[in-house]
Amino acid sequence: MSAVRTAVVIGASMGGLLAARVLSDEYDRVLLLDRDHADVDGYRSGVPQAKHLHGLLARGREILEELFPGLSQDLIDDGATVADLQNDIRWTIDGRRLVRHHCGLSGLSMSRLLLERRVRARVLALPGVTLLPCHEVTGLTTGADAGRVTGVHAVRLADGNARVDLAAELVVDASGRGSRAPTWLTDLGYDAPVEDRVPIGITYATQHFRREPGHLVGSKGAVVTMSLENPRGGALAREEGDRWVVTLAGLADDPAPLDPEGFRAFAASLPDPAIAEVIAAATPIDDALRARFPASVRRRYERLTRLPEGFLVLGDAVCSFNPVYSQGMTVAGEEALILRACLRQGTTGIGRRFFKATARILTVPWSMATSGDERFTDPAKSRTLAGRLTGFYLNAVGAAVGRDPAVGRALLRVANLLDPPQRMVAPDMVWRVLRSARHRPAVTEVG
Ligand SMILES: Cc1cc2nc3c(=O)[nH]c(=O)nc-3n(C[C@H](O)[C@H](O)[C@H](O)COP(=O)(O)OP(=O)(O)OC[C@H]3O[C@@H](n4cnc5c(N)ncnc54)[C@H](O)[C@@H]3O)c2cc1C
Repeated sequence: MSAVRTAVVIGASMGGLLAARVLSDEYDRVLLLDRDHADVDGYRSGVPQAKHLHGLLARGREILEELFPGLSQDLIDDGATVADLQNDIRWTIDGRRLVRHHCGLSGLSMSRLLLERRVRARVLALPGVTLLPCHEVTGLTTGADAGRVTGVHAVRLADGNARVDLAAELVVDASGRGSRAPTWLTDLGYDAPVEDRVPIGITYATQHFRREPGHLVGSKGAVVTMSLENPRGGALAREEGDRWVVTLAGLADDPAPLDPEGFRAFAASLPDPAIAEVIAAATPIDDALRARFPASVRRRYERLTRLPEGFLVLGDAVCSFNPVYSQGMTVAGEEALILRACLRQGTTGIGRRFFKATARILTVPWSMATSGDERFTDPAKSRTLAGRLTGFYLNAVGAAVGRDPAVGRALLRVANLLDPPQRMVAPDMVWRVLRSARHRPAVTEVG
């Protein structure tokens, strides 16, 4: 038997790349398979979301820097913008403007393409890591009793769909939201994980513009969240190459139009005029394009009582969130850190340990995204006593972020997955929020 230990990763997008990074510490060979041209720099059909605005949360940046020391500087050298999240970005949350203040939380703004290109280059420079583009995984291979996954069946798309079996001690599925792992497991006699779905029916419309010095003077970006009064949102962010990316979000029955006039009019209906002003002043680089996101989906692998040895699932394949919360890449990073910790304890029973630990870290982002969405899709919940109390407090927080920088900073830390949501109900914070709500007028105008 060969002494070379091999891991196979299915999917070479952000989830797969981060998994490969930590696997390379433990395995002699890591094979990253992608059915797409994942080696070519540019948009590709396997990751259609890459054209849309991709915010990297502060916690995600921390994780990437831990896994790839110096990555932030590389990105800055390539044209990424550093921004103080509270001072340099115009936030309008539930119709109210967050007060500006140097909070010390620095974000990086760049295209998803640049981020992925830099991460991929770092991963492929690691010893033993090989990317196999145009390789579609079609199933899992097992030992005689199906108790252990021993590799994958794949087809080489660039080679007349030639079949190839690749052996591995560990297989990690990072093939995204459309993962076929549930079917592969049932084919082997295991149960498929229960799937939680929380519908939202969000639509995105995205367009890029040339960035010039006179645009958005004094700020480096703008974010407007959807509110019950105006369920439309938008964001404007800098990308490398002096570009703006604008993404407008609406519910399924109110998508942002893709024609120039409709796109601009939708932006003008937001409570902060900044995005519409930039659109009006800037030269478009491309046509607007749309993405639809029907539901957040979470597959409960941690609840399976039987799992084969040697098989894990990670990234969007386990949980994909409504993108307006910008959580996907950061959560994939958290899962990569869990994978690293689990590998250090050995691989026997790794599935159970890994899925239990990932379920724990998914609790917060999942509940933040789904409870935020249920305000729009299930208003009955907000009419219960608990819902009314939460609504009252969130309204007070909304008012307080317009006045008290400490409340704004705390909210940004929670939204960036640096602090747990409980931080917002810590005694000192409740005091600040209620004091702000009592002593000043309840509504802050934006403009
Ligand atoms: C419109 C939109 C906007 C988003 N905005 C943000 C944001 O602002 N911030 C953020 O953090 N996240 C955002 N996300 C989520 C983010 O894109 C993902 O969380 C991130 O890419 C990690 O996903 P992944 O690697 O697990 O899967 P994916 O990115 O979906 O990649 C899956 C990969 O697997 C490959 N593949 C699929 N099947 C097979 C197979 N059978 N064999 C081999 N290869 C296969 C695909 O070609 C692809 O490369 C957004 C998502 C969408 C849809």
